[in-house]
Amino acid sequence: MTAPTWLVHLASERAQVAKVAERWKAQYCSQGQWARCSTGSSGEVHQRLSALSADATAQDVAEIIGNDSWIGEHCDGCRGHAVDSWQIGEAPDYESHRVVLCSACMDLLVKTYKVERMRLKRAMP
Ligand SMILES: [Zn+2]
Repeated sequence: MTAPTWLVHLASERAQVAKVAERWKAQYCSQGQWARCSTGSSGEVHQRLSALSADATAQDVAEIIGNDSWIGEHCDGCRGHAVDSWQIGEAPDYESHRVVLCSACMDLLVKTYKVERMRLKRAMP
């Protein structure tokens, strides 16, 4: 068996919050100049994101930025907002094939897999 080319990756709330200031800077700062953002100064937003404590949450980030799009992704299972997002498939890229699930949908997936696998084993002669 060859190594799988697929990926199961957890983008946790904590890991995303820890990198949000860096991601914000990459998006809004070019050659030392801060671009404008919807709330005004992207440099001020960056300062506030950089000052977040280690136990800051996705909600803290959303209050600074003004929306929840920077932490989490759309869940392909329940169509909700997955703060902790489980990414199954190819590594994230512009054209990657992957499914994103919230933790509740991931729990349902694992539970369903276990039940169906047991059913298959019982059905075998
Ligand atoms: Zn879900």
